[in-house]
Amino acid sequence: MSPPRERLRIALQKSGRLADASRDLLARCGLKFRESRDKLFCFGESLAVDLLLVRDDDIPGLIAEGVCDLGIVGRNVLREQAFAIADGVDAAPYRELRALGFGRCRLALALPQGQGYAGPEGLAGLRIATSYPNLLADWLRRQRVDARVVVLSGSVEIAPRLGSADLICDLVASGATLAANQLREAAALLECEAVLAGPRALPADARGDLTELLLRRLDGVLQVRDSKLVLLHAPRAALAEIERILPQGQQPTVMPIEGSEDKVALQALCYGSVTWQHLEEMKRAGASQMLVMPVERMLI
Ligand code: ATP
Ligand code: MG
Repeated sequence: MSPPRERLRIALQKSGRLADASRDLLARCGLKFRESRDKLFCFGESLAVDLLLVRDDDIPGLIAEGVCDLGIVGRNVLREQAFAIADGVDAAPYRELRALGFGRCRLALALPQGQGYAGPEGLAGLRIATSYPNLLADWLRRQRVDARVVVLSGSVEIAPRLGSADLICDLVASGATLAANQLREAAALLECEAVLAGPRALPADARGDLTELLLRRLDGVLQVRDSKLVLLHAPRAALAEIERILPQGQQPTVMPIEGSEDKVALQALCYGSVTWQHLEEMKRAGASQMLVMPVERMLI
């Protein structure tokens, strides 16, 4: 275990798919940093919270060892390493504190185009190439299928063409890489996104308080990010129907419009996204002058 610390330390990916969004999220939580010359360590100026910038694969281990208190990492990496560090996800010394909504992808089985997929049973005896051997083996075990796991650290998608595997188990986002390698997705094993990982129990010192403060700010930021303010005019008689169409949110505010007996103005804070379909439906219900606006900050 590492020596006692007063300041909270968060591990982030140094460069790669999650790096910018992770920094951006912490900035929105009001954290400001001074970067060191080697850019591996960033000193927190606004709060006693510092950053360690590393390869994403190192993040679960850094939390498990207590070198870092928190980390932002893909669910795939966090869970895969839970098998190496402990006896799987439930036994790991860390847990997922929040799902962060970026870096979305899934761990999926993909096989050469033109080959049929007859469900997990059809995988018996086949060779599956992957960089996630523990997650794949765990899934195969739960499906009660005996297949061979071929571990590759990268370029998994070319294994079937090279003849070193029959199919693959890899991360898929858009599916473009699969298509470029004449593969097609057969089954999803795990839905993934960036998560905030931390210890099972918060430290009983200043770092625990800082973690709680950060989680509160993070919840506000995550809620604001998906929230929209909707303004519109509508006949009073259409209000009930419009409120039914609006995505879930706060109780709308209804205000009179000067000089208009029948029409009112409505202001509603919605938590989900407000789509063109929502607007078109509300227009059919009688709404006009509809505006959908982003929310900068929120304190309810
Ligand atoms: P590092 O150099 O830090 O080890 P890496 O190359 O292992 O980085 P990235 O490619 O930057 O990792 O991906 C980081 C995470 O982004 C993945 O673990 C996954 O959770 C997520 N991700 C989102 N979309 C994709 C995708 N299409 N392919 C791979 N990972 C994706
Ligand atoms: Mg990595």
